[in-house]
Amino acid sequence: MIQFVGAGPGAEDLITVRGAKLLEQADVVVYAGSLVNPAHLARTKQGCQIYDSASMTLEQVMDVMIPAAQAGKLVVRLHTGDPSIYGAIREQMDVLDAQGIAYDVCPGVSSFCGAAAALHAEYTLPDVSQTVILSRMAGRTPVPERESIRKLASHGSTMVLFLSSGMLGKLAEELIAGGYAPETPAAIVYKATWPDQRVFRTTIAGLEQTAKDNGISKTALITVGGFLGDTYERSKLYDPSFAHGCREASK
Ligand code: SAH
Repeated sequence: MIQFVGAGPGAEDLITVRGAKLLEQADVVVYAGSLVNPAHLARTKQGCQIYDSASMTLEQVMDVMIPAAQAGKLVVRLHTGDPSIYGAIREQMDVLDAQGIAYDVCPGVSSFCGAAAALHAEYTLPDVSQTVILSRMAGRTPVPERESIRKLASHGSTMVLFLSSGMLGKLAEELIAGGYAPETPAAIVYKATWPDQRVFRTTIAGLEQTAKDNGISKTALITVGGFLGDTYERSKLYDPSFAHGCREASK
């Protein structure tokens, strides 16, 4: 059996209870060493074989996992955050499907949730934005033209950008070309939930300089939008004059 497990954003106690149990039981662990906190590996039992996938190809990862699974071992493929977000798990699952090898997926706390926690922020404020766009700048992995930052920015929604902290000048240009004012609040969250987490609040126009001044070029999320500002409406759910299935309106 192969278990794809989301390790969470960084902090070693932000893995799920299920993910932690799977790690404790694993005979083989293949972890994404570039981003997964190695402290998670302390949960593994003695004799567990551990591989860092950072220097491995898909084929090499499969060559480790498949024979182990066929030999009846429990294999944990440990991904950062939640495996469904830029996790490259589909290509692994397709190989396993083709070979008839059983697997399951244990979700994790994505770093975009860790970043909101670090910012003490709510992405979906009434009257500000009710939509969160998770995206990235095109890098060596292209982004379909219809999803260019410029086009996504035209919605004025909350945006969380992965894999983009090395191109903040271009990112700001695109956000502004899409319709955001240069003074729109923005934040850089570096290593959300890790012990060395850092949070920088700025504006879209200030993103590049802020990153430069603080030596940030990777392992960061960029968040953009009015949710980082001070103006919003109260929720209807907790409004005394608003009745719903669980509560009557007060006079
Ligand atoms: N599956 C992961 C994302 C993997 S893509 C998740 O759900 O979070 C890798 C990118 O995620 C990094 O380039 C960075 O932009 C972001 N990232 C991952 N962990 C992070 C963290 N702890 N803090 C800030 N950004 C993080």
